[in-house]
Amino acid sequence: MSVNHSNLPQIQNLIDGRLTAPTSGLYIENTEPATGTVYGLTPDSSTKDLDLAIEAAQKAFPIWANTPVEYRARILNKLADLIEEHQDELAQAEAIDNGKPINLAKNVDVYRAATNIRFFAQACTQFSSESHAMEDVAINYTLRDPLGVVACISPWNLPLYLFTWKIAPALATGNCVIAKPSEVTPMTAYLFSKLCIKAGLPAGTLNVVHGTGLNIGAALVKHPAIKAISFTGGSSTGLAIKQATANHHKKLSLELGGKNPTLVFADCDFNNTVNEVARAAFTNQGQICLCGSRIYIEASIYEKFTAALIKRVKQLVIGDPLDETTQFGALVSKMHMQKVLDYIALAEEEGGEILTGGQAISPKGRCASGYFVEPTIIADLDNKCRTNQEEIFGPVCTVQSFETDQQALKMANDSEYGLAASIWSKDINRCHRLAKLLNTGIVWVNCWLLRDLRTPFGGMKASGSGREGGLEALRFFTEPKNVCIQYQQD
Ligand code: NAD
Repeated sequence: MSVNHSNLPQIQNLIDGRLTAPTSGLYIENTEPATGTVYGLTPDSSTKDLDLAIEAAQKAFPIWANTPVEYRARILNKLADLIEEHQDELAQAEAIDNGKPINLAKNVDVYRAATNIRFFAQACTQFSSESHAMEDVAINYTLRDPLGVVACISPWNLPLYLFTWKIAPALATGNCVIAKPSEVTPMTAYLFSKLCIKAGLPAGTLNVVHGTGLNIGAALVKHPAIKAISFTGGSSTGLAIKQATANHHKKLSLELGGKNPTLVFADCDFNNTVNEVARAAFTNQGQICLCGSRIYIEASIYEKFTAALIKRVKQLVIGDPLDETTQFGALVSKMHMQKVLDYIALAEEEGGEILTGGQAISPKGRCASGYFVEPTIIADLDNKCRTNQEEIFGPVCTVQSFETDQQALKMANDSEYGLAASIWSKDINRCHRLAKLLNTGIVWVNCWLLRDLRTPFGGMKASGSGREGGLEALRFFTEPKNVCIQYQQD
């Protein structure tokens, strides 16, 4: 809801190096999901704010693009230092804004935000371009220049983590950025804007424009000054961006939804696999694009594994995200909670049996009106049903059994999505064989969410196009130009 007056604290945009109110004076209410109370206001920015941000970025670009790479790296490292210095404040803000447990916010979100920035600060100093020799004829070398003003659009599930994952490589390679954080979780992007000023990031280099996707997001992607769009979010939004930019010449990197298969074989390391499969399904209340929500279990251990998984999931400590002992917090919004509950009802209509969970819960104390749903495991569903095919993006997973590797592979690949998969087995030949045949951008073997920032990250099919991470991100944010020099002939 857009409102124009209140005593609530107001977030501000970062435009041309200054924190500014939206020109319209309009704001969106920001709700704490664990309590259901409105606790702040976010700018409902207009195209006027966007134009000011673009103007600032265009002014800053020739200067930033021509700074020595060591200078850009130094500023980014300073920013990473400041994130580490403010880690407690940032983790608390993320837990309040998103509903995730504060420990997760600190050890994953805030930690990774600093790591992302430090990684790309270093990577840009090591980024070398290619050279191709044509023996006795010519030498080619490739120049890689920044693109100009680029857009970075991020979702609500890992707010600061994914915000920095995009901004860092864009800035490191000499681009100026218009960043649009999710309107559902804007707080850490605001705190980050303040740290950018403190770090000495030149005015206009990074501009953070808050607002809704339909309003400011849609205007940003279509803006003629935007040379590239790095987007993370839902598959339907990704498609809308593709369509909106079809008549423009912009580079696109789309990191979209997932419905990820987890393949558990009878020869897995049983106890470790139970723990890790539970973690893969329910970390961040299942609101990570990489969460394993379709669990396929070899028939000979199906009953035993499912029982152990239910036992493990029932041990999760659910409660106030600000409590250090909480392992499972609130869903991000009332609307999202309703979506998840609707999917649980659909699963029952489709013939599913709820093995554990399935209900909204109301923790005692200050979180009694929060958006909590129990971690839910559902059995007896066909692989083709909507519950197994559509992304729920919440604490809901299904279990199914398989007899052969072939059958497991077929069920895993029978999906519109293709982001990530995990395989749990001690048979290394099987793991290699299946890893090659799974139609996903990422395959984890006997692990989940183990990330090396140098590796390509992204999905196939409805899970996106293009890759981010490491060199892929540095290449995305630069324009390659080949220079061919013929040798002088004697
Ligand atoms: P979303 O698509 O609704 O929103 C993502 C961002 O896009 C927000 O900032 C939003 O304001 C903006 N936006 C919305 N409509 C827009 C438009 N028409 N033009 C431009 N911008 C627009 O996604 P969400 O609900 O915030 O996030 C959840 C989704 O993100 C899930 O599908 C999840 O799988 C996906 N996700 C993917 C990855 C990945 O790396 N593949 C990572 C995290 C989340």
